[in-house]
Amino acid sequence: MAHLLIVEDDELLRDGLAAQLGQAGHQVATAANGALGQTLLETSRFDGVVLDLGLPVMDGMHLLRWIRQRQLALPVLILTARDGVEDRVEGLNAGADDYLTKPFSMAELEARLGAMLRRSRLPAFGGSLEMPTGRLRLDATQPLAWLDDEPLELTQREWSLLSLLVANAGQVVGREDVLAVWQSDPNDSTNTGSNALEVYVHRLRRKLADSGLNIRNVRGLGYMLETTTP
Ligand code: CA
Repeated sequence: MAHLLIVEDDELLRDGLAAQLGQAGHQVATAANGALGQTLLETSRFDGVVLDLGLPVMDGMHLLRWIRQRQLALPVLILTARDGVEDRVEGLNAGADDYLTKPFSMAELEARLGAMLRRSRLPAFGGSLEMPTGRLRLDATQPLAWLDDEPLELTQREWSLLSLLVANAGQVVGREDVLAVWQSDPNDSTNTGSNALEVYVHRLRRKLADSGLNIRNVRGLGYMLETTTP
């Protein structure tokens, strides 16, 4: 769980984001303009910020610069318009950690936020991830995992794929969500080819062969981690 601040003037989007991230287990505060966001940042401690750039009273870029002058390490994900290439570049130059172009899917937002929080070494998923069966355990910040307390040999990419599947166990994780996490991972410099995902899923399946866990291919949608033990 992380303490997140959403600064967004579009009421529908703001409420939708707050509800979704709240359901994902995060503690969420919201602000409808840059000045209110600034006040909240002055009075509370946050683990991450979702920041719209087009805001009334104080715009998002101004607030981003203000954040960077005071809190160098606070992860910030900016939201920009589809045609806002210059905004995106300016935002990243001003110290944003990642960006999403509107409209975006909630699944992608959650995947990118999770990756951003993991990178900042904050307990996005409470420090470790565990399957309901308790046999598989993953460190939430480093590429480490254990099956029945025996270390599993995983590459960075296998670990981030498995983290995403465990965090969403029993739900479908979209192919594009996995690829988005890989692409935003600074520890992962390998190119993401179109067949790469199948290859990594195949490898993970073999490593999980006797674990009572299966990675199911949900045709046209993505992958789902499920327990196979009776
Ligand atoms: Ca806006």
